[in-house]
Amino acid sequence: MLYQRSSALFAEAQKYIPGGVNSPVRAFKAVGGDPIFVKKAKGAYLYDEDDNRLIDYIASWGPLILGHAHEPVINAVIEKAKLGTSFGMPTEIETQLAQLAVSMVPNIDKIRFVNSGTEACMSAVRLARGYTGKDKIIKFAGCYHGHSDSFLIQAGSGAVTFGSPNSPGVTEGTAKDTLLATYNDIESVRALVAANKGEIATVIIEPVAGNMGCIVPTEEFIKGLRELCTQEGILLLFDEVMTGFRLGKGGAQEALGIDADIVCFGKVIGGGLPVGAFAAKTEIMSHLAPEGPVYQAGTLSGNPLAMAAGLAMLTELNKKPEVFESLAKKTAYLHEGLDAVLKTKGVPYQINRFGSMISVHFTEDAVVDFDSSAKGNNETFKKYFHGMLQNGIYLPPSAFESYFLNDALTYGDIDETVAALKKVEL
Ligand code: PLP
Repeated sequence: MLYQRSSALFAEAQKYIPGGVNSPVRAFKAVGGDPIFVKKAKGAYLYDEDDNRLIDYIASWGPLILGHAHEPVINAVIEKAKLGTSFGMPTEIETQLAQLAVSMVPNIDKIRFVNSGTEACMSAVRLARGYTGKDKIIKFAGCYHGHSDSFLIQAGSGAVTFGSPNSPGVTEGTAKDTLLATYNDIESVRALVAANKGEIATVIIEPVAGNMGCIVPTEEFIKGLRELCTQEGILLLFDEVMTGFRLGKGGAQEALGIDADIVCFGKVIGGGLPVGAFAAKTEIMSHLAPEGPVYQAGTLSGNPLAMAAGLAMLTELNKKPEVFESLAKKTAYLHEGLDAVLKTKGVPYQINRFGSMISVHFTEDAVVDFDSSAKGNNETFKKYFHGMLQNGIYLPPSAFESYFLNDALTYGDIDETVAALKKVEL
């Protein structure tokens, strides 16, 4: 496959946009080569500026769970746009999406819409601090909660890909309030809680991690976390920006059988438009302005086009909850196929999977936390990524990212993916 026009467009973009992209992971720095510029997409396929067709395993980093340009979503946005794009005043559709989201997700009464997952997590932490009157937070190495200052401490995703898990520009003052624990290691959390008794507002976690590849929490760890937070009066904050409306109607709370105190959303809830949200029981949410003193706002929050896309998406998922099971089956099928071929390649590897999230790590040992994920062989990963790309398969361009399957993918597409892997030399 040729990517001439993409490379030319990238060269031009670099003249006017730092690094040529508006979000670092798009630049392919971890795998080398030029990024691909997309012209359009439909269902499971991306069509790039060189007219290559690629089978897409990223789905815009998660939002497009029903595939690209899904008609009910597109139609809802078109119809809404004809009525005006933004009012900065309340609209009925905000309540419709709020009501539907609250009815689908366990353990939440009220939800506030924002414009991104970053904003959702940043605002949720402020709410947790305002509610508890405490300053410190615990996060896990390798978890990514957006690019707000207090989260850029051993962050995963693009932050680690670019060698800046602790970004310059984050002050020491901010960093000192973020304490760092090890994923799947409850003792690391207990030790921090003991050393900071009565000072921790919240523990924020990706309940199934997707930003150091896909990492599944052990039952002992996630249950232990819930118990510890309850005992110590700490709010358990599930960052479900990836997992919300992906692992099931009720997201990771439902899939893992664990109640969180505050839940953040992004990606699927916006149907491919910029939406984030955070939600909790009324008792906590009533601390938020204008009802309470914790300030949070947004000119475009609850934007009608974004709400229309989100409402169309959640309506579809609510009507057809069997889609989550069907996606999980397709992901298991992909897992089996990749496993069968990788076995023959003579390189150590691990495949992690939960629901419709999956990742491949080229390492001997089980990948259970950031350190074990970071042991993956990036040279092998590069060959894997580029080999698949040459054969028309678009995988995340970094080993620190999960794949997100979408329901438009057919078993035939997955067979084509596995056949492509057979041709790749690792
Ligand atoms: N939280 C998680 C778990 C994420 O994966 C991401 C983004 O990938 C974010 C938060 C930030 O969301 P956004 O990129 O919409 O700001």
